[in-house]
Amino acid sequence: MHKEPIIVSQQEMNEQTEAMAAFRAMENRPKSYYVVTYGCQMNAHDSEKLAGMFEQMGMRAAQDRKQADLVLFNTCCVRENAERRALGNVIWLKQLKKEKPELLIAVAGCMIQQPYMADKILKQHPFIDLAFGTHNLYQAPSLLLKLVQSRQRVIAISHDDDLIAEGLPVKRLTDYKAYITIMYGCNNFCTYCIVPYVRGRERSRRMEDILREAEALQKSGIQEIMLLGQNVNSYGNGDDFPKLLKALDGIGIPRIRFMTSHPKDLSDALIDVMANGRHICNHLHLPVQSGSNEVLKAMHRGYTRERYISRVAALRQAVPNIGITTDFIVGFPGETDEQFMQSVSLAEEIGYDAAFTFIYSPRIGTAAAKLKDQVPPEVATERIQRLIHAVEAGTANAHRLMVGQTEQVLVEGLSKRDASMVSGKGRRNITVTFAGDQQDVGKLINVKITSAAVNTLRGEKESTR
Ligand code: SAM
Ligand code: SF4
Repeated sequence: MHKEPIIVSQQEMNEQTEAMAAFRAMENRPKSYYVVTYGCQMNAHDSEKLAGMFEQMGMRAAQDRKQADLVLFNTCCVRENAERRALGNVIWLKQLKKEKPELLIAVAGCMIQQPYMADKILKQHPFIDLAFGTHNLYQAPSLLLKLVQSRQRVIAISHDDDLIAEGLPVKRLTDYKAYITIMYGCNNFCTYCIVPYVRGRERSRRMEDILREAEALQKSGIQEIMLLGQNVNSYGNGDDFPKLLKALDGIGIPRIRFMTSHPKDLSDALIDVMANGRHICNHLHLPVQSGSNEVLKAMHRGYTRERYISRVAALRQAVPNIGITTDFIVGFPGETDEQFMQSVSLAEEIGYDAAFTFIYSPRIGTAAAKLKDQVPPEVATERIQRLIHAVEAGTANAHRLMVGQTEQVLVEGLSKRDASMVSGKGRRNITVTFAGDQQDVGKLINVKITSAAVNTLRGEKESTR
């Protein structure tokens, strides 16, 4: 059951609108912005909202960070290397600020939401002008106005994790594909994971607000929506996600995707909606994390290897030709080589289309970070190579089976390697490359698959929708 959300009041939203107008009217204000995003799709969509607000404040997107008056880092803290990359880039800007003292530097998002991290960053890097946490995103206009008016550092890190702000302006990265956040936060407290601490408890948007957003996108000609949440299967009262998905399927947007699905909450009702939906893509990202029951228990995942395998079997029976992708963590504290080999055997048994494989990264404040038996980095590095190898065999096999089939591809751009080719994702979420040009971008094109490589499929255009 979710926390009852509090929708940010109209009065507070009006204050932000007024701050945008006041900022726009200022003469001596930043004219351009550049947002650097780290981490997951949730963050990517938050950055689209920040860009939407900045545009309404009269700023325009700069081509690169050197040309911007305001550079904002929207950070991630899920693993240490994401933190390190963000900090490295923030420090790099210190030099730029010496050359261009009027440059404003802002740091937002998950890293700033961790109290010890915010203290450390702000103390060590006095050149950061503005910092705000995940729960303050909608206040970006008034915070920025305060900064520009006062020329004093502004910091806002709220711990009110039950708020939902509706109606924020969004500047989407493309006009053919759109993210829709359906829920925020997470209640699962997997023992390795920092997300519940920086994103707060689960709270769901009202179904009518989501449907209204999707209807507007459908009218604008969008080809694909991606529903976002840390655990979309527990949307609403815990069993409302299939209802929401069914209602969205009825709107008529050609393709619907969603992530992330937690295996413990993958219900028969959801499988049924996926099997009978007209627009729901035949792909599911179902992070397993480990193939060992002992490790899954220590991770507090709430399912066993056997349960996971049986859910995948039910999915495959109901949705033929479904592609399954996953996340694995290797080197969780105490993981033995035998337990690790169960991840390898699970990857072989399931035959994933693709997997994100991560070396466990201790996160301060999580239960697992206190465990004694940390796996040495060289052991984890060697294990991840073995796992990647096992995943690749499954991927190659899945791709081979696609040869000869027709895939509907949403074209995303020219191929980086060969400008006479375009690439995009099929409904199964595998990248497909074929001969085409800029005119194809944003279109749904039926492509006959002619050959398969490890990461992509190649094909020939059949028809445009
Ligand atoms: N909510 C999603 C779920 O339950 O699968 C995933 C959210 S998390 C941002 C994305 C992935 O990061 C996880 O599936 C996990 O594999 C990985 N991850 C999270 N915490 C990690 C850690 N401390 N070390 C390594 N990988 C981690
Ligand atoms: Fe993190 Fe687990 Fe929540 Fe996913 S379900 S965000 S891995 S705590």
